[in-house]
Amino acid sequence: MRILEKILGRRPHWGVHPDDHKRPAADAPLRSLPLPEVLHVPLQQHVGNPARPVVLVGERVLKGDLIAEPNGNISAPVHAPTSGWISAIGEITAAHPSGLSQLAITITADGADAWCERVPVADPFALAPEEISRRTAAAGVVGLGGATFPAAVKFNLGRRLQVGTLIVNGGECEPYLSSDDRMMRDRAAEVVDGLRIVMHAIGAREALIGIEDNKPQAIAAMRVAAAAFGNVQLRVVPARYPMGSDKQLIQTLTGKEVPADARAAEVGVLVHNVSTCAAVHRAVRRGEPLVERIVTLNGGALTRPGNVLAPIGTPVVDLLRFAGVSERPARLVLGGPMMGIVLPHARVPIVKGASGILAFDAAEARTPPAGPCIRCGSCTRACPMGLLPLEMASRIGVGDLDSAAGLGLSDCIGCGCCAYVCPAHIPLVQFFSHAKGELSARERSRLRNDATRRLAEDRAARLAREAQEKAAANARRKAERDAAKAAVGGGSRLLSTRIADTTSEAAT
Ligand code: SF4
Ligand code: SF4
Repeated sequence: MRILEKILGRRPHWGVHPDDHKRPAADAPLRSLPLPEVLHVPLQQHVGNPARPVVLVGERVLKGDLIAEPNGNISAPVHAPTSGWISAIGEITAAHPSGLSQLAITITADGADAWCERVPVADPFALAPEEISRRTAAAGVVGLGGATFPAAVKFNLGRRLQVGTLIVNGGECEPYLSSDDRMMRDRAAEVVDGLRIVMHAIGAREALIGIEDNKPQAIAAMRVAAAAFGNVQLRVVPARYPMGSDKQLIQTLTGKEVPADARAAEVGVLVHNVSTCAAVHRAVRRGEPLVERIVTLNGGALTRPGNVLAPIGTPVVDLLRFAGVSERPARLVLGGPMMGIVLPHARVPIVKGASGILAFDAAEARTPPAGPCIRCGSCTRACPMGLLPLEMASRIGVGDLDSAAGLGLSDCIGCGCCAYVCPAHIPLVQFFSHAKGELSARERSRLRNDATRRLAEDRAARLAREAQEKAAANARRKAERDAAKAAVGGGSRLLSTRIADTTSEAAT
């Protein structure tokens, strides 16, 4: 560790070091899930607008066929994860604690798992960077570390801002999860090829691969895969949660701090997760859309924890059955225990960003009752964003959300370090996510009200303008009428004078 400290200058002062619970799941060989009979493929699996269906119920599809197209600039297409028939397009329960519904395309598998036609590329480095972006976007690749931001949109941003360094995130600091670890151990060559394709797409000079020191096999495999490329460096970082968070990894690897309201690209770096890089490799080299991912199955309620290669849309219940459930799970979590989502039930499907399904037994799910704050300051010391969790929570507690916002609430990344170290077990993160939700609802309502006010003002201005124009037109018409009348009056007088003259001449 001393050597590490020398390399890195100092150990991070933020974060926590929870028991990682990664073994034995991380060490079990990667398995393929038997093909599920039915897959529910949600249309919202990425940041941005949900995709738009392009298939009809009853239609036959092959694995990899486009079933929903992107809808807007920040959106991603969705592809059939296996061959079969479209058996429904409708609402299913979303992977969200609220149990709200979302639109999904249901495919009844035909068991053949037959691929559509794929267009491989032998030399991606001969393609224009824009073409790499186009192929990555068409394959529906999104950030697989959990952020699910469409990868190609990030490429374009990186190119526009002339990003020089690609940071490859192999941190995977959440306890229990090991899908990225397995990806690096089992498919290191794919990850390295993918990250080199990403470098080409964004025009980066170098890539830094950050891997936590609790993954020695992944470090060894990636070191071998990257050895031939001088501009690809592997950096071992201390295992400390939330090292896998973009801002913390950037700071640890480069010393650069990303300002609260800025994007990583603005300080010259772009971060992509290791599994995203492997998905880029498959999308570009093999022409394969993103239709499956590695999912960690872990938790005390499972008898065969491990990592499986599962098609997108697989119901969680199929994964649990495969991993062997020893007892009814007391809590089901999608993602890690620190930042994951508690699932309402096991019939929800897995999505592109689903790095793990955790089935906790009663002991793991137990939440001690919250006590009063003892002002120990542990939460402040643990916060990786340098915030004051205690102060923010106490202001939220009395409903003063604006002053909590003034303390930097929007910078909170929801990592849960503060709640993890709190000896009083105060659910600090719930306070923050509630307040953030409330503030963004207020903001949405403010924007709506502003828009309504603007519309009303525009309408009033338009009506006033129209009234003015009407009055001016009336005045103009009246003036023309008067002028015409005057002209007619003059003409009549002239005519009557002429008639009188003619009459007197005749009499003479
Ligand atoms: S860690 Fe908990 S008890 Fe300690 S100051 Fe923060 S909120 Fe209070
Ligand atoms: S305040 Fe937010 S960023 Fe800071 S430790 Fe708590 S959850 Fe993490």
